[in-house]
Amino acid sequence: MLKEALLWDEFTGKSVRCQLCMRKCMIDEGAMGWCQTRLNKAGKLYTLTYGRVSSLSVSSIEKKPMFNFFPGTVWLSLGSLGCNFQCHGCQSWELSHCEVKNDLRKTSYMSPEMVIKKAKQNGCQGIVFTYNEPTMWFEFVLDVFKLAKKTELSTCFVTNGYMSPKALDMIAPYLDGFCLDVKGAFMESYTRIADVSDINIVFSNGSDAKRKFAIHVEVVTNVIPGYNSNEKEMKEIAAWVFAELGKDTPWHLTRFFPYGGLKDVPPTPVDLLENLRNMGLREGLLYVYISNISGHAGLNTYCQSCKKVIVKRKEYDEVESKLIEGRCSYCKALIFGRFAFKG
Ligand code: SF4
Repeated sequence: MLKEALLWDEFTGKSVRCQLCMRKCMIDEGAMGWCQTRLNKAGKLYTLTYGRVSSLSVSSIEKKPMFNFFPGTVWLSLGSLGCNFQCHGCQSWELSHCEVKNDLRKTSYMSPEMVIKKAKQNGCQGIVFTYNEPTMWFEFVLDVFKLAKKTELSTCFVTNGYMSPKALDMIAPYLDGFCLDVKGAFMESYTRIADVSDINIVFSNGSDAKRKFAIHVEVVTNVIPGYNSNEKEMKEIAAWVFAELGKDTPWHLTRFFPYGGLKDVPPTPVDLLENLRNMGLREGLLYVYISNISGHAGLNTYCQSCKKVIVKRKEYDEVESKLIEGRCSYCKALIFGRFAFKG
């Protein structure tokens, strides 16, 4: 089902300029944008992926990963097709870099109302768009979030942060959680990892999400040996989180596993992740996590005041909380995040 896209301008003749993400594709009549999710038909831009669900599950929010955001609750997770990045080690390459037009037949249609109903039927805390870049089906995500905000459901977005400022302005009023993938601090790393050459927007969107729109932000960095794993680069990211988002913003260091175009790169050594976590804490961040290692102590949330474990995570869906109304049950310190269960 074609649906007219929201963010685009007429260009010359029947060409259009997509304004959804910072690639700002100029698209001739009959052609698609870089991400293959947008088609110029007779001088108008359409989205191909409205309501086209490729993946759906009811799973813990910790899997995103989001740890200081309703820990231990289950969320309806949805994904579609397409991406505006090209990460060589992408774990969902089959969804993100498929032939979108051809592979639509492998998806199922859901209306925004059906998504809300499914989330409620399954006792979910909220709805999270993940698996592929949510900006790719922006119009649908926006409609779902608008409906969700008329209910008690919370909303979350797992993103590479490359949407245009206009897109963020439109979706931010309906967004509770923003899980931002920061792939590096330097352009060179982003180019090697994701084939992207302008990264300022990732940082300014992260900062706007937190400061301008008061969205709960958590930052995720997949530490890829030889790509972004050096301490200098990681220190830059930690310093940016501290300065722009605040010391109470969670930073997740995830373990890389070989996949796709990076199948010859070894998994991230555990001691490297532990050293980087210590570095992040030394830089002043209060919540630095290690993800993708089952049972690791770096999965737990520690009270920043008494240092006791206040949320213990063995696996992502084995979560034991010692929080009482957002406070440490041992010393009563206020823990940063969103905790009250609304459902
Ligand atoms: S959303 Fe797709 S078509 Fe639009 S600018 Fe980004 S890559 Fe290009």
